[in-house]
Amino acid sequence: MSDSINENVIGEFELIKWIESQVQSSERMSLGIGDDCAIETGQPDQDLLTSTDLLVEDVHFKRQWCSFYDLGRKSAAVNLSDIAAMGGKPGSFYLALARPRDISDEQIKQLISGFIAELDGYGAVLAGGDTCSSKAGLIISVTAQGWIERDQAICRNGASVGDAIYVSGTLGDSALALRHLLAGEPCDARLAQRFHLPTPRVELGRALIDCHFATAMLDVSDGLLSDLGHILRASAVGAELTLERIPLSEPFRNAVDRDAGLIDLALCGGEDYELVFTSPLKDLERCDGPMALVTQIGIITEQPGMRIKTAAGEAFNCSSMGFDHFA
Ligand code: ADP
Ligand code: MG
Repeated sequence: MSDSINENVIGEFELIKWIESQVQSSERMSLGIGDDCAIETGQPDQDLLTSTDLLVEDVHFKRQWCSFYDLGRKSAAVNLSDIAAMGGKPGSFYLALARPRDISDEQIKQLISGFIAELDGYGAVLAGGDTCSSKAGLIISVTAQGWIERDQAICRNGASVGDAIYVSGTLGDSALALRHLLAGEPCDARLAQRFHLPTPRVELGRALIDCHFATAMLDVSDGLLSDLGHILRASAVGAELTLERIPLSEPFRNAVDRDAGLIDLALCGGEDYELVFTSPLKDLERCDGPMALVTQIGIITEQPGMRIKTAAGEAFNCSSMGFDHFA
């Protein structure tokens, strides 16, 4: 047993009982919350995907920025995004919480409810976790599992020279919202939504598997240039991007019209949770599903490194390369 939650609030075991009562039973789980381990029945001809993420108060989020319910949803969403980035189907998820004394029962329940609600939307289940007290801030650790057809996972090392580079949705919205939040400025609701409740592109990931479209893929969490850089290094190739092709939302475009330098946020800002992928194929039409979301932004080159050009053919330099926790 772990460091128990303080006595002023419901006990650790009472909270776990409550969590158990909130989770719908799933055919997939032979045993869910309540024992030392959960048991999930293995799936024939499938590979198991596993990923872990930490969300730390005052590093990844500030308590006053959003509701606990939305914080729970986002904690699930960013992990669903990792499963989507391999082309996987979300499966069982594990939620570990280190809870400071000044978070009420109601707040922690809101967080867990949001987490479960977000998972429900993608057919995933909360199958276990851990709960202890924290003397620092709130710490949320999520382990996500998912399934993918055997040997079909879309990894970072599959890009080849001549492949087109695609990205889903729009970039920079979340980073622009964060900039407003940090400055205590009002923020367009559409931008704020992208920061607080990113949409994991699970459906798109599955569609790309179904039509065998993508050769390499990842989700953009640290900024397009930084994350695309991972694909380039893993695949030993380079890339050329066209600045004007980077997909921007209307509120983001309006902001760039007022301050041209903000375009850097679309290239280097973080937390977009869009999918970037490469493909030798040009006809997105051949895929069913949410392909309308997708824009071609560049091409994989033999020359290593990354070059960004404007439509007029001039080189464009970005001010930074993305987010690095230890920088
Ligand atoms: P142990 O002492 O073996 O670690 P716990 O008392 O921590 O067991 O947990 C009991 C059960 O409750 C386990 O099945 C565990 O997965 C589950 N659990 C604990 N905390 C959480 C949580 N935050 N979310 C989901 N399940 C949880
Ligand atoms: Mg435990």
